[in-house]
Order: sequence, then structure tokens, then C-alpha cells
Amino acid sequence: MPSGKVHDWVTIGTALGAIPLTGMYLPPETRPLAWLAIASYTFSGIWLSSDLDVQSSAYRRWGPLRLLWLPYQKLVPHRSWISHGLGVGPILRVAYLIGMVTVLILGVNWLLAQIGLALQVDPHSWLLNATDWVFTYQREVWALVIGLVAGGAAHSLLDFAHTRLKRWL
Ligand SMILES: [Zn+2]
Repeated sequence: MPSGKVHDWVTIGTALGAIPLTGMYLPPETRPLAWLAIASYTFSGIWLSSDLDVQSSAYRRWGPLRLLWLPYQKLVPHRSWISHGLGVGPILRVAYLIGMVTVLILGVNWLLAQIGLALQVDPHSWLLNATDWVFTYQREVWALVIGLVAGGAAHSLLDFAHTRLKRWL
């Protein structure tokens, strides 16, 4: 597979290349949505890389929080459809991350409760607020999803092209 650096440069290069195109081809009112999609695409390629399924530079980039991705690595075989599948990969990683962060927050809150410092955490009201937010900002949510999926797709296509080229040579 191409190195993490190659993936990073392709992500950053294509994102930077897309910014002037939005100015040339999109009406002014749609440009902020396109920029949101480009930001999401960059985040997807750099931070939510498909190679989080292995000890990669993307994994190390998370610093101490990389521990959050350890169960993912154990559960997901490298380059399987779960991590590298078009569309599926990044969406599952976002769902996984939300799940892990929720478990982490609830766990910390439980520990704080043991010493009488519990915060008022109500997962049910969080969920309702998140659902409200998604319905209020539907266009923005779509821009984020499109960016996420495109970031994962760019990674998988590069992996695929690299494997093909290696076989051909
Ligand atoms: Zn890969």
C-alpha cells in the first residue's frame, strides 16, 4: 500500500486544488457548503484514515487518544471492506468514534460519581439534541457526509491503483 505520507499529500493536494474550483464553478451561496465538504474530506483523509485498522501514521497522529482505535484495529482486518469499503468505511469509523467517546465520557462520569463529583449527563437528552441538530442543518450534514465518504474513497482508490500498478510492473 502507499505510505501514510503519500495518502496525506494526496488528501491535502486534492483539497487545496478543489478550493479554487469552488470559486470558479459554484454560485456564491453554495460555496460555504462546498468548503465544509472539503474540510470534512480533509479530516476524513488525515484523521479518520482507512489505515486506522493498522499501526499507521494516521493511528499515531491521535497521540494518547490513539488508544480509542485499538479495539477497532483488533476487530477490523487490515484493508477489509469494513475499513476500506467505499462509503461504508468512513461512516462506520464516525459511528465507532461517537460510540467510543460516549463510553469514555460515561466512564469518566461514573468515576467522578464515585467521589461525589458527577456531572449532570443525560444521554437521552444529548441524543434528542443531536437529532434536532441533524434535522435543522440537513444541507450542512449532507456536505459533511459527502466529504467524509469522498475522503475514504480517495484513500481506497489510491490503494487500489497502487496494487494494480505494482502487479503490472
Ligand atoms: Zn489503506
